[in-house]
Amino acid sequence: MTNVCKCRLCGEESLKEFITLGMMPIANAFLKKENIENDEYKFELNVGFCENCKMVQLIDTVDKTMMFNDNYAYFSSVSKTMEDHFKKYSDLLTERFLEDGDLVIEIGCNDGIMLKNFDRGKFNVFGVEPSDNVAEAARNRGLNVITNFFDQKLAEKIVNEKGKAKVIYAANVMCHIEAFHEVVKGVKVLLKDKGVLVFEDPYIIDIIEKNAYDQIYDEHVFYFSLTSLKNFFSQYGMTIFDCERQTTHGGSMRYYVCNDGDYEIKNSVSVAMKNESEKKIYKFPTYENFAENVKKSKKMLVELLNKVKSEGRRITGYAASSKGTIVLNYCGITAKDLEYISDNTPTKIGLYSPGMHIPIVSEKEFHENPPDYAILLAWNYAKEIKEKEKESGVKFIVHIPFARVI
Ligand code: SAM
Repeated sequence: MTNVCKCRLCGEESLKEFITLGMMPIANAFLKKENIENDEYKFELNVGFCENCKMVQLIDTVDKTMMFNDNYAYFSSVSKTMEDHFKKYSDLLTERFLEDGDLVIEIGCNDGIMLKNFDRGKFNVFGVEPSDNVAEAARNRGLNVITNFFDQKLAEKIVNEKGKAKVIYAANVMCHIEAFHEVVKGVKVLLKDKGVLVFEDPYIIDIIEKNAYDQIYDEHVFYFSLTSLKNFFSQYGMTIFDCERQTTHGGSMRYYVCNDGDYEIKNSVSVAMKNESEKKIYKFPTYENFAENVKKSKKMLVELLNKVKSEGRRITGYAASSKGTIVLNYCGITAKDLEYISDNTPTKIGLYSPGMHIPIVSEKEFHENPPDYAILLAWNYAKEIKEKEKESGVKFIVHIPFARVI
């Protein structure tokens, strides 16, 4: 155990490390063929727990501009599941909080998967997105996007130019932002009377219960619980007044936050707090136990792959996801083990996976040259993918909680 940095949220002197996944590349930094011989940026992927405010977080982090730039590999709209999810999410926000003329802002809007659903005739809607290639995709859909990192300075500029927002929302973004204090200071400046901040991110209970160690990667600086977030927002005179578990991204939590006293606190908050307490998410041994399970999971996956290979079977990876980068690098799965990884994001095809340099091919190639087995590197889309590939005859291997053929 090492204590190498202060808690980013409460300033507690030392984080207690409970897991290291070793030296890792940036999970979404897919490589061109001509670059695979060059030195690749790597950092130590280790996670710590703050005994004071209970926030789980990375110990070493990567500069944000190395992750979010004009070459960001993740386009939200490649998934039908997420398209459906965001349609429901935007309908819900509209119904619950919005009135004609309100300003709605999305932090980290990516290619506009959610933003596009709001009625732009009724509301003033725009996104803030630092990764210019995905922001451009959103603009091509006719959406208004500011290409920048959201922070207090930007929030002040927005207030001056466009006024205050009724709803600020973010999905799978807040846990990415190391300067979380800056974000919340910006939100405080930007929210109008009775305005709400709504955000959702992978949930610590799902990560632990599903043994989903591949949720740990450079972009995910924080692993939120309600317990830790309640402590955090209270410093800013803000309250989490509602929360809802989500099935997306392997299990997430959606949080509704307002200025103290603006909304009645729903029962969902005490129910979730009780659950977190019962699951002992505030105790360090919970995380030590998780780390042991992760080691077991790796051993089982390596053994399963060796067995399948020894039977002369062909194996590939399915979905060149950021989660996949972690599994492949942590378990030492190379291009000798997987022939290729198939994916449906056009910009990833022809590239090589970070760290292990496995070629990424199209789904067309997967269908024309199907393997015997494929590791499902996007286990969170298992239902969607199994349905889509039911005719292929390929057997899928899932690595979490423990390796098995599904
Ligand atoms: N909201 C989309 C979704 O759920 O599919 C995109 C999620 S993607 C995992 C994270 C997004 O957050 C990226 O598009 C990234 O560029 C953006 N992002 C990262 N840091 C940000 C910041 N400080 N302000 C605004 N967006 C940010």
